[in-house]
Amino acid sequence: MDMKRRNFLKLAGLSAIAGVGAPTAFKGLLNLAPGEAMASSSHEEGMESSEKKTGKRLGMVIDIRKFTEIPGLAQKCITACHTTHNVPDYGNKKDEIKWLWLDNYEHSFPEHSQYKRNNAVEEMKILLACNHCDDPPCVRACPTQATFKMPNGVVAMDYHRCIGCRFCMAACPYGARSFNWRDPRGKDKNGRDFINRATMNVDFPTRMRGVVEKCNFCVERISYGLLPACVEATGDTGAMIFGDLNDENSEISRVLRTTFTIQRKPSAGTHPSLFYII
Ligand code: SF4
Repeated sequence: MDMKRRNFLKLAGLSAIAGVGAPTAFKGLLNLAPGEAMASSSHEEGMESSEKKTGKRLGMVIDIRKFTEIPGLAQKCITACHTTHNVPDYGNKKDEIKWLWLDNYEHSFPEHSQYKRNNAVEEMKILLACNHCDDPPCVRACPTQATFKMPNGVVAMDYHRCIGCRFCMAACPYGARSFNWRDPRGKDKNGRDFINRATMNVDFPTRMRGVVEKCNFCVERISYGLLPACVEATGDTGAMIFGDLNDENSEISRVLRTTFTIQRKPSAGTHPSLFYII
């Protein structure tokens, strides 16, 4: 895998210098690993047919009013998410790996501008994650199909296929993807593990240096009928509602029909599956 990764990066670099786009670089990769690429194509075709069959689109409503009312609730969700998925803590902002994180209103909703904002909005912290877009540009940008859309609408990742080209990061308009510049399984210079060994989830894979990661809507949990870890952490507060946007009878559809919600950067045309009540 390391060899393929290096070969691809060489190709991608040469293509960039020559002004040739990702698809040409991908052809080079196909020559390097034809068996792998073939398997990927048939995998995608299978997904398309089951997508038509199920017609699901999982989504989430995040009620920021509840997070403002209940101090510490957002951090509880972040901890639940990051512990469940062994998200490394590199101890600095520059290398931060973000699955679920907080930002201010202005950064979160740059298209929803007001001439003057009241203090409540100025001080508001917005809980952010991958939007599991219905039309995800990250999926189109990925040359190895390491990121793909599942039949239930979740934009997932196969870490083993990620070659670290970071095209997906450039394509995502929301900064929802992070790159491991360091080895998540390693330690800092003081001997602190980047992943807390005491709380590590042995049922979820750790990643490696050179791999991109992001929120996966807890696809490993929902396949067992569980809620995403962040939603579970909100308990009965109603701060997060998760469900099938295509099911007219689901709780999330009822909330969207009866409550004013906004999405991040609608002009990007990605059709986010995360909705916010402000
Ligand atoms: Fe892809 Fe970004 Fe949309 Fe997530 S938010 S599906 S990473 S484009």
